[in-house]
Amino acid sequence: MLILDGKIVAQKMKLQIAEKALDFESKVGRKPGLGVIIVGEDPASHVYVRNKEIACNAVNFHSVRIQLPASTTESELLQAIVSMNQNELVDAFLVQMPLPSHLSTERMLDAIDPMKDADGLHPINMGYLWVNRQRVAPCTPWGVMKILEHYQIPIKGKRCVVVGRSQIVGRPMAHLLTMADGTVTVCHSRTFNTREITKEADIIVVAAGQKHLLGRDDFKNGAVVIDVGIHGSGQGKAVTGDVRFSELEGHATAATPVPGGVGPMTIACLLENTMTLAQLKKK
Ligand code: NDP
Repeated sequence: MLILDGKIVAQKMKLQIAEKALDFESKVGRKPGLGVIIVGEDPASHVYVRNKEIACNAVNFHSVRIQLPASTTESELLQAIVSMNQNELVDAFLVQMPLPSHLSTERMLDAIDPMKDADGLHPINMGYLWVNRQRVAPCTPWGVMKILEHYQIPIKGKRCVVVGRSQIVGRPMAHLLTMADGTVTVCHSRTFNTREITKEADIIVVAAGQKHLLGRDDFKNGAVVIDVGIHGSGQGKAVTGDVRFSELEGHATAATPVPGGVGPMTIACLLENTMTLAQLKKK
């Protein structure tokens, strides 16, 4: 079974982004800037934010962090978003999810300047994606597409199944695979006989957020299995995915491990989106 190593693909992307960042700096007189707003003390979120800052340094980006307490009100968070929208050193930024439950994710997303939307989740950028005028794409599904491209896994005409229909992963994933000429079925928590569907997949992307949900018997022999799930991150436990990876050897053709599969791609795609938006702004 071929291990689809996201670290290798992410590293390749980062080298390309670092070159573009140096070129940008020489022309514009400053580094591309990525901002993060983090609210509260969620340990996994703090790990992600630290990793993003390390990645920024590695590709010659400037990084800006606004850290707010869990008690932050909606208007205080909106003010922070406006300050990022107006900060000329920030080309793109994101609000780290999940937000404390008293804050509306939708209202926060709507307040982000679409031209600074590092995560590609603003409704305007989602709309562009849907009408095939992609400006930036949601990072995780875009990272999956990059892995498939790097390992030259053909999508055209293939039977693809996406398990999960969230706005940040499942739905854009299904769209991207469709536009790459895959024939796509989406399963979710109300799907009956999910196994009958997953067993037909040539390529299956699992993003259900359920630890070890699927294993060997859920996939056909020869399938390509992409596991988006992350469990245990930032909690001092072993990190695992939605798939029982150890069951795949001798059954799947190729699969992403957790950790080291899709996870590193999400940050690489965040940097790519930032670079894209910085260059668009320059134009
Ligand atoms: P959500 O919880 O938002 O969505 C989960 C989706 O899976 C929902 O559509 C849900 O269906 C569906 N689902 C849940 N249980 C089942 C089941 N038993 N069978 C079929 N479908 C099911 O999660 P996200 O999309 O945000 O994230 C998914 C996973 O990916 C998580 O583990 C998350 O941590 C991880 N993740 C990893 C990233 C990375 O960088 N690698 C980035 C983002 C997320 P319904 O709509 O009916 O509720």
